[in-house]
Amino acid sequence: MVEGCIFCGIADLRVPAELLYQDHLLVAFRDIKPVAPVHILIVPKKHIADVRDLGDIDAEMLGKVFEVAALLAKQEGIADSGFRLVVNTGPDAGQTVGHIHFHLLGGREMGWPPG
Ligand code: 5GP
Ligand code: ZN
Repeated sequence: MVEGCIFCGIADLRVPAELLYQDHLLVAFRDIKPVAPVHILIVPKKHIADVRDLGDIDAEMLGKVFEVAALLAKQEGIADSGFRLVVNTGPDAGQTVGHIHFHLLGGREMGWPPG
């Protein structure tokens, strides 16, 4: 747990969020500023700054992220229409929170390449 980290706070249930899923590795909750009809953040309970800080030890958590994304996509009714799982990393990608998180986005058509 990192003091002052908003996603550590949500993962610890100290900071309120609309939680949709939790287990010993992950939490998932709705993004406070959604950019699509479905915009969920899947966040490990362990504080990892970003993709560059992942290691072998995180393999189980990463596998679980994809499993939970598929589960929530089904639950939210976007499994058939399609969705994106996005991990912004560093300034060029627009990462604003320094605790790794996976955006599950869906419910509308999305452009490619992303802006
Ligand atoms: P990033 O820009 O780092 O890829 O994504 C950070 C995301 O976290 C943004 O989409 C932002 O709206 C969301 N966010 C930031 N603070 C909070 C918060 O306190 N609660 C929730 N639910 N989402 C947050
Ligand atoms: Zn954190």
